[in-house]
Amino acid sequence: MVLDMHTHIMPSGLERLAEIMRDNGLAAVVNLSGGSFGRGLEISEAMAQRLPGLINFYTPNWRGATAPDFGRREAEALERAVKEHGFRGLKIAKILGIGLPDAQGQRVPVDWPELDPLWSKAGELGVPVAIHTGDPKAFWEPVTPANERYDELSVHPGWSYADGSIPPRAVLLAERDRMVAKHPETTFICVHFGSNSEDLDYVTKLLDTYPNVVIDTAARLGEIGRHPPDAVRAFFIKYRKRILFGTDLGLSSQGIMLGSTGADEPTMADVKPFYDAHWRFFEGKERGIPHPTPIQGRWTIDAIDLPDDVLSDVYYDNAARLLKLSP
Ligand SMILES: [Zn+2]
Repeated sequence: MVLDMHTHIMPSGLERLAEIMRDNGLAAVVNLSGGSFGRGLEISEAMAQRLPGLINFYTPNWRGATAPDFGRREAEALERAVKEHGFRGLKIAKILGIGLPDAQGQRVPVDWPELDPLWSKAGELGVPVAIHTGDPKAFWEPVTPANERYDELSVHPGWSYADGSIPPRAVLLAERDRMVAKHPETTFICVHFGSNSEDLDYVTKLLDTYPNVVIDTAARLGEIGRHPPDAVRAFFIKYRKRILFGTDLGLSSQGIMLGSTGADEPTMADVKPFYDAHWRFFEGKERGIPHPTPIQGRWTIDAIDLPDDVLSDVYYDNAARLLKLSP
């Protein structure tokens, strides 16, 4: 059984999602774009009622962030979303730490104390917080052909931070890690492989230091599969209870996102090869295979041949435990 822990589903994508789940053996998917009250939450709830296996995460309404008591109000909203609307987690987008200003127009750090009531509430409710911090390392580097994400940054020049407009990546990750340390009672899913898939040692230390952290694999097989395969395999076996399978599949009226977006729009015919590339990486033994999201870099990856019981943990069981799904 497989649960995709990291998707973004808009109502216009619901029918395609049902087809994708059927064709790729997905028992469930988590929609990290569940929305907030009056801003998509009610629509997401209706989607989950129509499609069994679709699980929603609540997303704060950041427009209210400059008003007093923002954190406390969002904590209350999360509680209602969970208790009355069937939501099973909280998703924090990368805007926290990158773009969100406070009432004085200053950048809000990831460990902004205003949000402490929200993190505490998630812990009290027993729902995980999926948090995206920063971006790939290459987004801070000059956009030249030497940049390993040159293809992606050429299509999306606005994704580059090479102008120094936001703090270095290490600053953002340190803010996140301080926040995680301050809330040991709350489980944080540090998405995109801890938001530092380029550095296996960093992610190892993250998991060793904070027992309340788990990670997902979304849109990072390129970096994960680039490390020495024996080291990656050992990592997955050691942390088998703390890694969640996710892809960053997106379905909206704008089209299909398969981990990222490029100049060519994917079609439904591209979705199965995308999932197959994941199975091939986790389950196979091949060397030098293409990764699922070629726009993210022109290198190949090495498969890690995980044992069946580890695959069960990563593909489904860890998520089911975290989301309290009935067996
Ligand atoms: Zn995502």
